[in-house]
Amino acid sequence: MNAPRKVEVSGEAGYSIEIGPGLLGDGARLARALRGRHALVVSDGNVAPLYLDGALAALAEAKPGLSVATFTIPPGEHEKTLERFTECLHALSELGATRDATVLALGGGVVGDLAGFAAACWMRGIDCVQLPTTLLAMVDSSVGGKTAVDLPSGKNLVGAFHPPRAVIADTSTLRTLPDRELRAGLAEVVKYGAIFDAGFLDWLESHAEALLARDDAALAEAIARSCAFKADVVARDPYERGDRAMLNFGHTFGHAIETEQGYAGTTGDGLNHGEAVAVGMVLAARLSAALGRAGAADAERLQRLLERLGLPVRIPAGLDPQALLARMRLDKKADASGLRFVLWDRAGAARIVSGVADEQVLAVLRE
Ligand code: ADP
Ligand code: ZN
Repeated sequence: MNAPRKVEVSGEAGYSIEIGPGLLGDGARLARALRGRHALVVSDGNVAPLYLDGALAALAEAKPGLSVATFTIPPGEHEKTLERFTECLHALSELGATRDATVLALGGGVVGDLAGFAAACWMRGIDCVQLPTTLLAMVDSSVGGKTAVDLPSGKNLVGAFHPPRAVIADTSTLRTLPDRELRAGLAEVVKYGAIFDAGFLDWLESHAEALLARDDAALAEAIARSCAFKADVVARDPYERGDRAMLNFGHTFGHAIETEQGYAGTTGDGLNHGEAVAVGMVLAARLSAALGRAGAADAERLQRLLERLGLPVRIPAGLDPQALLARMRLDKKADASGLRFVLWDRAGAARIVSGVADEQVLAVLRE
């Protein structure tokens, strides 16, 4: 086994992200992240049958006195509800969880957000250890401390900033991840290159096939580099008051597509989050070019990379540009002077730009 990669998130509530194959079987490593005698493992109906027993056995061996319970939700974004959150708190209560208890989130972003929010609220905040099993969760949602559940009126409307105590990403779990979920995660990986590092975009171009083939070394490299970018932004701006909003590159367009299709992606008939972000990044790059901020060739190159990674790059048929624009205006990213976007200065360098005129946005949506 290769030694795991380690990325540190610095700051008052700093923590480390460990990345490598087989980490869920390393009981001593898991145990080191736990302080007290109680642990609740939260997972979902796809992940639990694959990885829960192994992790529990490793933990039991490394920490025999530990009192562990499990709470498993059905898979899917529509389970990220206040009802599941309440059930999770009841599970903590039944476990007799004290202030030094730990919630372990074993799964993708849905499990991570729900478990993280329960940890944020139980006794005003206990430790949460993220054990992400999707590429998206490894490179994005498990790092940074954003936790939330959805309401029928919108995603992530109730939540808290609650940094994890540790993130342990076992890359072996990616072998069972459905192809479409892998590609969705790669969209967020590409995002880091697009915002921060043209050299990383070059690297992704030369490793696209290896990543799609789930080559261990390529995946570990992509995850470690992505986490390092995210760790850096999060350390500078833990509560998203400034720079962290750069991570929304492609997301203003992407969220509009997701909401306009009624989050159909979560049921499989529309674009999922990563796919919507892929389309959104191409639109953001084109808008940057249309505004004369960046070159059109860079936008084309980004589009080609995403296409090679099997990601969509066009707005799904049937979505009306005017309706998408209206969504963006509602999405708290507009002010009196116009819409706010993360746009390119060039590939690998982005900034937040306010006051983008509706007509400019519509022109790009209609292309
Ligand atoms: P995301 O991490 O993309 O935000 P989810 O938490 O909804 O999203 O996970 C996406 C889907 O992949 C869910 O159906 C989940 O049960 C499933 N899943 C998560 N991790 C794995 C894995 N390692 N192997 C197989 N399926 C997985
Ligand atoms: Zn995202």
